[in-house]
Amino acid sequence: MDNQTTNNKRFISLRLKWAFGTAVGSLIIFLVVTLALFTAFTQNLFRQERELLNQGMTTISQQLAKSSQPLTRRSIERLIDPNNDRSIIRGADYQRPVIRELSDGHLIVNIYNPQGKKLLSTGAPDVGKSLVNERQVSLARGREHQVLVGHTPIYSQKGRQVIGYLQVENNLNSYTQSYSQLRLVCVMALCLVVLASGLLGYFLSYFLLRPLSDIHDTVKVISKDPTKEIRVPTVNRNDELAELIEMFNEMLDRMQRYINQQSQFVSDVSHELRTPVAIIQGHLELLERWGKDDPQVLNDSLAASLVETKRMKNLVQEMLDLSRAEQVEINFRDQQTVVNDVVHQVYNNFKMLYPEFTFTLDDDVHEKITANIYRDHLEQVLVILCDNAVKYSKDRKEVHLTLSRGMNSVEIGVQDFGEGIAPDDAKRVFDRFYRVDKARSRKKGGNGLGLSIAQRLIEGYHGSISLESSPGAGSLFKVVLPIVDDPEDK
Ligand code: ADP
Repeated sequence: MDNQTTNNKRFISLRLKWAFGTAVGSLIIFLVVTLALFTAFTQNLFRQERELLNQGMTTISQQLAKSSQPLTRRSIERLIDPNNDRSIIRGADYQRPVIRELSDGHLIVNIYNPQGKKLLSTGAPDVGKSLVNERQVSLARGREHQVLVGHTPIYSQKGRQVIGYLQVENNLNSYTQSYSQLRLVCVMALCLVVLASGLLGYFLSYFLLRPLSDIHDTVKVISKDPTKEIRVPTVNRNDELAELIEMFNEMLDRMQRYINQQSQFVSDVSHELRTPVAIIQGHLELLERWGKDDPQVLNDSLAASLVETKRMKNLVQEMLDLSRAEQVEINFRDQQTVVNDVVHQVYNNFKMLYPEFTFTLDDDVHEKITANIYRDHLEQVLVILCDNAVKYSKDRKEVHLTLSRGMNSVEIGVQDFGEGIAPDDAKRVFDRFYRVDKARSRKKGGNGLGLSIAQRLIEGYHGSISLESSPGAGSLFKVVLPIVDDPEDK
């Protein structure tokens, strides 16, 4: 999978990117925090070491400053520990309490007379002697690592004259040890954190992104064969990916519905066109054989062909209307119409067109009602329903229109008292090209598309269309449309 390429770009798994991202993120955070802590800690440690050196120098200088003469070994012995009568010099193992205490604290003390001759040394110093005029503390390169060295002249308390020089060295052994131990711990912790966060990121992403690979697999199958009934397995989660899966599956359902409808449509259309084309062909053949000489055949055949051509024209127009009706949601979503006006207009038109019929309009609504529908579409639906009511009425030539308002909807009813529809047919009259009595409907010029156009239009505007009918008693079609809450043109 890692070697796959997408659009000529190298495929890098999201999981790896996620793991790398978390690892780098935690590396940066940890590095900053550790560096801050490390610096603060080691600086503090270094300050303590410097303090120790300064204290040591001050203590020894103060002790030795009591002498008014240049320092000698004897005077040093006397000044540092007057009660101890043992020899003061035992090499590095020096016995005097102050010096010993200091040398235990990792300090190497060297005392020189004013001429620079070494009088006392508690150990071999890393740095050579330096007779300075004032106190200096500095870092110097030692044999193994850096050392802290302090130089100071020793002034007699009384005469303020230089009686010797003091050099104290802090070999920084414990500091260096702590420093390297701490550094090791930090580096190890850093590696551990980066590794742990990388692994955690990898496994976390594995669980979190698993639905993505399911989607990926499904897309792969569907792109090979769009009719495959495969769906992304739903996950028991409550997050964006679960939502995405749900939406994706719904999209696949819709897509396949469209594909099926499309192929069904093509087969329905070719089936519907076959009859008029066959009739026209029949008449043309008739004309070819006898029509040229027989004016009666010529007239009849031309008239019949013209009827069929007109039917085909209507059929093509209705098919166009149907395919447009499927897109109202996209193309006419912001249209608004005052329903009362359209119902009254259609009512008046039909009254005028069919004077032999009795049209009544029951209008219970006293205010203007606006619905979210394109005016021509509402008119088209009402014309289809009223046309059918007229077409399928028998002896009782009455059509009732009603207009009423619900809580959030408006309801329009179109009722006739004609032949009615049997329950089995009632379930199918909204299907494309469905006609209860094909031959009779054809005679009346019907293609079986009117109700499907009406249903698609109404459902496109989030409304509904229903039918109540019983054979012999007539039919009642009800259209319900949601009302616009705050219509501008009320
Ligand atoms: P058509 O153009 O054939 O009328 P429709 O889609 O409008 O197509 O109607 C489908 C079928 O439903 C019709 O062929 C007819 O059999 C039946 N139908 C529709 N309206 C009525 C009605 N008011 N009374 C009885 N039957 C109806």
